Amino acid sequence: MAHLRTILETFTACHGIAGHEDEVATSIIQHGDFTSYGRDAMGNLLCMKETTPGAPTVLLDAHMDEVGFIVKYIDDDGYLYLDAVGGIDTKALSGACLLVHGNSLLRGIVSDMPPHIAHGSTVPELGDLPLDIGMSGREARETVPVGSPVTFSTRLRQVGQHKVCSKALDNRAGCTVLCSLSRKLDVPFNLAFLFSSQEEVGTRGAYAALTSSAPALALSIDTTHGDMYGVPREKTRTLGSGTIIGVGANIHHSLFSRLRETAKNDGIAHTIKAYAGATPTNLRSMQTAGRGVATALLSIPTRYLHTPAEVADMRDIKATQRLVSSFLSSLDESYVEAIAC
Ligand SMILES: [Zn+2]
Repeated sequence: MAHLRTILETFTACHGIAGHEDEVATSIIQHGDFTSYGRDAMGNLLCMKETTPGAPTVLLDAHMDEVGFIVKYIDDDGYLYLDAVGGIDTKALSGACLLVHGNSLLRGIVSDMPPHIAHGSTVPELGDLPLDIGMSGREARETVPVGSPVTFSTRLRQVGQHKVCSKALDNRAGCTVLCSLSRKLDVPFNLAFLFSSQEEVGTRGAYAALTSSAPALALSIDTTHGDMYGVPREKTRTLGSGTIIGVGANIHHSLFSRLRETAKNDGIAHTIKAYAGATPTNLRSMQTAGRGVATALLSIPTRYLHTPAEVADMRDIKATQRLVSSFLSSLDESYVEAIAC
């Protein structure tokens, strides 16, 4: 578990909104164990672990990008106006410290009126929350090109005995699971580790990656909503209750059944989450690629998604890693080939 936490701390400290995943990709290459790897024009990082020439390929996916912002305008007073890259909860932004990746790395504070002046408690729009970087308009324009990425600045911290809090647990937790598995797995088929780009802006990286490669089956690891104060229980899964196995039209039923049976047989903590249609994950692009791909989904329950302070339980990340490992070990080449037909 300590090893997983160390990788997670490293990956969450990297910055990478959609289209700017280079820092994350470099760190993954450093920490994984792959026989080869390459980037594509979309920014995807595809790492191979080829053990058997001619054997079918199982693809494991986790997206590298995090939600953040892009600078769209700088006014004469030096305030930066931002657009969200991915779904951002503006309630969590007032007073937040953000990092501006301009010509140099700058800190900025999301400005909002103090309550003595604002009166009232309406949720502000992002356009009402300009970023104060402590510069004049002229200095700001010279230092920050329009289009610069802006990210949350929070680093990984311990919360209670088992939980951690950070930006970008969505989905560096998934990247951590796959990277740590690359050092352990020994299976009779080839493994492709897709660290995909641009999930938060429409699962675009996975779409391109699956169009150009044809795995026998694909398993995606992502986060989903953990239990939170005030949110109906049926919409969330409790932190510490294990990994979440997805079921529904976006998931191949045989793979779901096999994941569930493997979890039961190996005593791996898990819950089931049903999706009526396309899941809000890379699977929505992956399943329909080419002639269709047999897909499955494991999720890690996470509180406060898309805020600077996401919270997850290390035991759920470990359970996800264990289930992927046991699931892959349970497959043989004939099952993998049969499910691809
Ligand atoms: Zn995600």
